[in-house]
Amino acid sequence: MSEEFLSCPRCACKKFYSRGGEEKMFFFQINTDLWPVATDANLSDLSKTDFSPIHCTACSWKGEIQDLQAKG
Ligand SMILES: [Zn+2]
Repeated sequence: MSEEFLSCPRCACKKFYSRGGEEKMFFFQINTDLWPVATDANLSDLSKTDFSPIHCTACSWKGEIQDLQAKG
């Protein structure tokens, strides 16, 4: 069973990125518990990442995790 993920409120894309305190970009999806799930298998520790704001990978939307919607 695949997990369900929330969609961008503008374009319904389900992949997002954020910039931590460093220059590296983190790619992730947001599950229905509003929890970021890393799409990069090498990225094991998201706890130090700042997820505010998050950016959509497909359009120019950015906002808070709470702004996402379960249905595109
Ligand atoms: Zn988008």
